[in-house]
Amino acid sequence: MRLSRYYAPTLKETPAEAEVVSHKLLLRAGMIRKLTAGIYTYLPLGLKALNNVARIVREEMDRAGALEILMPAVQPADLWKESGRWEFYGRELLRFVDRHEREFCLGPTHEEVVTDLVRHEIRSYRQLPINLYQIQTKFRDEIRPRFGLMRGREFVMKDAYSFDKDDAGADASYWAMYKAYIRIFERLGLKFRAVSADSGAIGGSFSHEFMVLAETGEDTIAYCDACDFGANVEKAEAVCPPPGDIAPCPPAETVATLGQHTVEEVAAFLEVTPDRIVKTLVYVADGKTVAALVRGDRELNEVKFKNLLDAKDLRLASPEEVTAATKAPVGFAGPVGLAGIPVYADRELSLAADWIVGANAADAHLRHVDLGRDAAILSFTDLRQVAPGDPCPKCGAPLSFAKGIEVGHVFKLGLKYSKSLNATFLDEAGKEQFMIMGCYGIGVSRIVAACIEQNNDASGIVFPPAIAPFEVALLNLNAKDAEASAKADELYDALTAAGIETLLDDREERPGSKFKDADLMGFPIQLTLGGKGLARGIVETKDRRTGEKGELPLDGFMDAFV
Ligand code: ATP
Ligand code: MG
Ligand code: MG
Ligand code: MG
Repeated sequence: MRLSRYYAPTLKETPAEAEVVSHKLLLRAGMIRKLTAGIYTYLPLGLKALNNVARIVREEMDRAGALEILMPAVQPADLWKESGRWEFYGRELLRFVDRHEREFCLGPTHEEVVTDLVRHEIRSYRQLPINLYQIQTKFRDEIRPRFGLMRGREFVMKDAYSFDKDDAGADASYWAMYKAYIRIFERLGLKFRAVSADSGAIGGSFSHEFMVLAETGEDTIAYCDACDFGANVEKAEAVCPPPGDIAPCPPAETVATLGQHTVEEVAAFLEVTPDRIVKTLVYVADGKTVAALVRGDRELNEVKFKNLLDAKDLRLASPEEVTAATKAPVGFAGPVGLAGIPVYADRELSLAADWIVGANAADAHLRHVDLGRDAAILSFTDLRQVAPGDPCPKCGAPLSFAKGIEVGHVFKLGLKYSKSLNATFLDEAGKEQFMIMGCYGIGVSRIVAACIEQNNDASGIVFPPAIAPFEVALLNLNAKDAEASAKADELYDALTAAGIETLLDDREERPGSKFKDADLMGFPIQLTLGGKGLARGIVETKDRRTGEKGELPLDGFMDAFV
């Protein structure tokens, strides 16, 4: 590409409306322009960066077995009423009516649409699992659109949705996406952390956020350098042990055979359907290890311990006792934990466990717990209370705090949408079952901004090669000179032929402004041709990140360069 015919209108002055560095630099480097609040046009350079991010996301989604589709931006209100979110979503949902007075919204996310698609198409367990994704424009009427691409109202998201026939499959789908996300952010060259997170308005049973570390981040995360612990502090309630090695949860049967009671027995006792019985707590009652199966809501907790209440001596089992009693593998969802409870590291159980800790109050359902004696195994970490340097809840090393920009989010949704929208399939026994869902978002356009927040200096953007719109800026300092220009063209052709994306600055500008613009736009490598160097037959090289300069011979340049 020749800059003389390109459209990259750089600005000398920093636009007053921009508060954060990525917004300033995206405007100054001629990458985006604002149409109206939170809504931007991508100019050629900005679009190239966006497409580079999208390409890597797409490659890794494809590698993980997800299938690309493209869903509409306009969604009928009826579907949102069916899921219950028409009321729940609030004013971020942009609603309007068509000429027939039918209600619609601009999609802020696509759970409803994709579930509607799948419920009409998938009939049998043989068609599952399936994971569908798209890279598409979302609209959220953010109350405070700001920071340019970071919090737009219209923005580009990759959203994927998995459908599984059982819980073990759903967990496997979740961890496949988690791993794909790690690959994506590593390939993009970003410094990031995966942290456990609240599942927020989308709802569901467990979730992780992927945070790009940057001072301008709107979230605060606590993380540990000695292990893989990380959590979003602002969202944290009591925090369960985070995933150790990423291993799938033990199958539901493991839970069903724990302790004295089967899931069916307990369900019958509680007069609920067995699918409500999803968690286990292990106690030592009068010296005997027993398991209680619980769900994370208070109502159920009240009843479920009935059969334990008469024990004279009741305490939570130690991790060793839990392991011995359950024989379940210790892993992410296994019986590990700060409290000696078999913890399913999700929010629901975290709340249940939190409540148990709090249950030593006067009217608690758990009698006989001796807070002094049981303090150690009852010690959950409430991250809202934690400060930098406090011990990591997982390994005890000092915790670090950082600001983070949420660039990705994975949720295990469970049955939330398949139930409300009635997405079922026939299982092996011909029985109708709800599909188990997960959803997985990446802020494709936000990544472009987040990457600049993390990679810039006083002169401008310092793009990581994977996102850079061009890998090489080739500066022809003697654009008015036909002979020099012919050399520059030759070099440009050779680079392009070698598959190296190159922007040739062939404008008749002063060298100073060429260097300034190349620095501002942040291409990883600058090659300069002209002046005395050209007379000596050399090309000057500069590494944008380190500023390191070098020389390469013009003769046989490509061999020396690659
Ligand atoms: P936030 O907490 O920043 O409002 P979110 O939790 O509402 O984000 P999700 O529903 O998890 O967002 O959407 C998936 C991803 O889409 C987010 O991780 C983020 O990277 C991106 N995203 C969300 N809102 C915006 C926005 N207004 N502008 C740009 N990207 C966004
Ligand atoms: Mg939001
Ligand atoms: Mg969020
Ligand atoms: Mg989120």
